[in-house]
Amino acid sequence: MKLTTKCIHGSEKKYDNTGAVSVPIFQTATFTHPGVEQSTGYDYSRLQNPTREHLENLIAALEEGTEALAFSSGMAATSAFMEMLSPGDHVIASDDLYGGSVRLFEHISRKNGVVVTHVNTSDLAQIEAALRPTTKAIFIETPTNPMLQVTDILGVAQMTQKNGLILAVDNTFLTPYFQRPLALGADVVIHSGTKYLGGHNDTLAGFLVTNRDDIAEKLRFIHKTTGACLSPFDSWLMIRGIKTLAVRLRQQEKTALALAEWLQSQPLVKAVHYIGLPSHPSYALSKAQTSGFGGMISFEVESEAIAKQILERVALIGFAESLGGVETLITYPYLQTHADIPEEHRCAKGINKTLLRLSVGLEDVNDLIADLTNSLA
Ligand SMILES: *Cc1c(COP(=O)(O)O)cnc(C)c1O
Repeated sequence: MKLTTKCIHGSEKKYDNTGAVSVPIFQTATFTHPGVEQSTGYDYSRLQNPTREHLENLIAALEEGTEALAFSSGMAATSAFMEMLSPGDHVIASDDLYGGSVRLFEHISRKNGVVVTHVNTSDLAQIEAALRPTTKAIFIETPTNPMLQVTDILGVAQMTQKNGLILAVDNTFLTPYFQRPLALGADVVIHSGTKYLGGHNDTLAGFLVTNRDDIAEKLRFIHKTTGACLSPFDSWLMIRGIKTLAVRLRQQEKTALALAEWLQSQPLVKAVHYIGLPSHPSYALSKAQTSGFGGMISFEVESEAIAKQILERVALIGFAESLGGVETLITYPYLQTHADIPEEHRCAKGINKTLLRLSVGLEDVNDLIADLTNSLA
């Protein structure tokens, strides 16, 4: 089955004795037992709920994993992943990561005795040099947020397989529609389902997916024990969102490319970072490991004043955090998503006061260009 079809039919409906086309929302916390030492397969919704199970099977099918777990947010999923590690363990992570992941590593993982070293994972030699005898996992985001740097997943996977490490890939930006890290040798895929998977800026969710039984068993235990599981209703919203994932992403990518090209022609725009532009340093690598470039653009303008003017003047485009939804949103990573990262790290990565990030939605490209034209003027 092709991925576009899987988005709609990838999970088998188990409870279908009415013919309902849409999966029911099993809004229940607990389940009665038919008899002593008997179970319907469901006991309590933290452990499993049929609506959430349908969604988990769907995500596993899309990512080509054997098991997926649905969490109440992307950060809950990342936190659960980090719970697999023990005090003394070392992790190598990308140095341009979602700000919340950096906050988790620096303030929670560190307190728990897990040390995270950040390197530019686009450069495999930097990862190799950071390996320690205590290294247990490599955590990458590709492309990165907001600088859109690309890491060679296959190259890192060869390193993790040789050294017996776990490779985790945050696949939020491209989704399984464009990139499937497990097929390239990753062990765990992480998602903020809040973004493209849900796709409507209305629901928080997170996922972990794996194709390794040993990891699945550990993660399932952490999930049911720590309890940040996705509610039945939010699971249903995710299932509904995913039905249109392929068609949304195809259109968002098309509009993003047109906008990136238009931005490049603007005198007040100094640089445009979009992986789908042949001038992007990782254009060739992206073509090799993904089937598309997604809908995220970041761009630098002439001055801080112009950056702020755009944020204040946009009318159709929303000045808001988050990404991946049908509404086009613009953010200021320096003061929003990445505000907690030390100034010198932000600036070294190019996250400065003139950088803006655009999540391209489903509006007509001409209306988006008109809005940006007005706000640049
Ligand atoms: C938003 C995001 C997260 C965190 O997900 P939440 O659902 O907001 O908790 C993690 N990684 C990336 C790349 C994100 O964009």
